[in-house]
Amino acid sequence: MSQSFAPPDTEIFRTLWGQQEGCCALCGLAMPRDRFGLVHATLWKKQRPTFDHIRPKAAGGSDRADNLQLAHAACNKRKGARV
Ligand SMILES: [Zn+2]
Repeated sequence: MSQSFAPPDTEIFRTLWGQQEGCCALCGLAMPRDRFGLVHATLWKKQRPTFDHIRPKAAGGSDRADNLQLAHAACNKRKGARV
C-alpha cells in the first residue's frame, strides 16, 4: 500500500493516455488505468503505466509531453536496461 503506485494523474498523463488509447508505447498491449482493475498488486507493479522518455534525459531529453510516452513499468525498465 504505497502512494507511489498511484497512476500519475496529471494533464500530461491524460493527454498521452488518450493519444495512445491506454496502450503501452513499447509493446502495444493495454495498460491498467488503476490498480483496482487487477487482482494482484504485484501485477500492478509490473503493468502500471509509467512515463518513458523517448529521448533519454541523459541524452538531453526534456520532461515535456512531446518527449514522453506511456509504457508498462516492466517494459520501461527493460528498455532502460538496454540503453
Ligand atoms: Zn508494455
